[in-house]
Amino acid sequence: MKIRRINTAHEDLDAFLQATQADLEQIAEQVAAIGREVAARGNQAIFEYNRKFDGAEITEENFKVSPAELNRAYTLVDEDFLKAIRAAIAKIRAFHARQRRNSWFEPDEQGNILGQIIRPVARVGIYVPGGTAAYPSSVLMNAIPAQVAGVRELVMATPPNAKGEVNPYTLVAAAELGIEEIYKMGGAQAVFALARGTETIQKVDLITGPGNIYVTVAKKMVYGEVNIDMLAGPSEILIIADGKADPAYLAADLMSQAEHDIMARCILVTDEEALFDRVEAELQKQIKDLSRREIIEQALVRNGAFILTADLEEACRVANRIAPEHLELMVEDPFALLSKVKNAGAIFMGKYTPEPVGDYYAGPNHILPTGGTARFKSPVTVDTFLKTSSLLFYSCAGIRQAADDIIKLATVEGLTAHANSVRIRKEKANGDEANR
Ligand code: NAD
Repeated sequence: MKIRRINTAHEDLDAFLQATQADLEQIAEQVAAIGREVAARGNQAIFEYNRKFDGAEITEENFKVSPAELNRAYTLVDEDFLKAIRAAIAKIRAFHARQRRNSWFEPDEQGNILGQIIRPVARVGIYVPGGTAAYPSSVLMNAIPAQVAGVRELVMATPPNAKGEVNPYTLVAAAELGIEEIYKMGGAQAVFALARGTETIQKVDLITGPGNIYVTVAKKMVYGEVNIDMLAGPSEILIIADGKADPAYLAADLMSQAEHDIMARCILVTDEEALFDRVEAELQKQIKDLSRREIIEQALVRNGAFILTADLEEACRVANRIAPEHLELMVEDPFALLSKVKNAGAIFMGKYTPEPVGDYYAGPNHILPTGGTARFKSPVTVDTFLKTSSLLFYSCAGIRQAADDIIKLATVEGLTAHANSVRIRKEKANGDEANR
């Protein structure tokens, strides 16, 4: 397995970065056609796609996961899984509880009151991928912040397997969080059904959750009719390592992302060139025991890179430019480097913090901005599920004092009706005052 090597002293990164960008537009027509079918034929269109893409026979009878299926799922998972997922739930809930924000109201000396009312979105659809792997952890990362935000209605969509069943681990994760409305549907059709509703599914206000390119393109299309968390592209990891980093850890962590998807982007950046051969040797050694080795190899060869920089400061500049979803600082003193990091979805500090710690367990959300969007986007948080209303209350004294400024500003814009609505109040308020 030969990984592309780039030396920033005499090569720039442009060609590499452009070649590995996912092209969302490429399949837009196909996804738009799925949207039209769901709009025209509702559930029946979804069942046809279930047959075509998942090989599953789904009908009105087994479309929604039944309480019996949820109970049965518990008989199919082991005690260790239950123990692990309950521990993860507690940690993820505790972390997100710290993100809660309160409404606020601020009076001033005129008796005016300004404020912000923060409320949860009423109904949320969470997409849990289920095509090539099962993702019970995604149930937690979507649903827990929603519940902490106070969302009352959570509906889940996930593709069934060829037997028309949902993965039991995914179902138990949902049941542990009290999610009962679960539909067996995946891909773009699930996103359209959640956004626009069908004869069975009541439409939602917000759709969250990762998925493949069909899911992502559909989310882009329904954005505006509903809100979405983000447009998630293929997974990414960028590791900044110094000469002391353990090549075995570096290889293991690069492959932990590569196994997601052949489009996954796995990058090692270092100022120690000797690491490259050592990491490559470790990749060859460790890949033999991994179950998804074909995906890993394709991802690393197609989109992987070893980037050599002059020093670690330059390594941080490279990372900031790429703005990776996951950034690992595998250096002796990661805290010393932290202030140089500007763009990253999540930052994993030091050799004992591999990225799966965050994927499953520590508490922060694993739904993170990808494709360079960490320049302007944040991870999924409690805020993703909240909306705010501004609150304004003006007293009689308040409007009298502000009236002339507002009238002036409205007049400058040529909006005389705006000016008038303030003027009549000012005149009445002056009269009231004079009559007192
Ligand atoms: P998925 O559930 O996203 O997609 C499966 C569905 O895609 C199928 O049910 C089908 O409806 C649709 N589909 C498949 N082939 C199609 C085609 N040719 N045309 C139209 N629709 C088609 O599951 P997946 O495919 O395994 O992808 C999961 C993705 O989610 C991966 O890229 C993974 O990396 C990502 N993921 C990200 C995170 C995160 O937090 N960033 C977490 C978990 C998973």
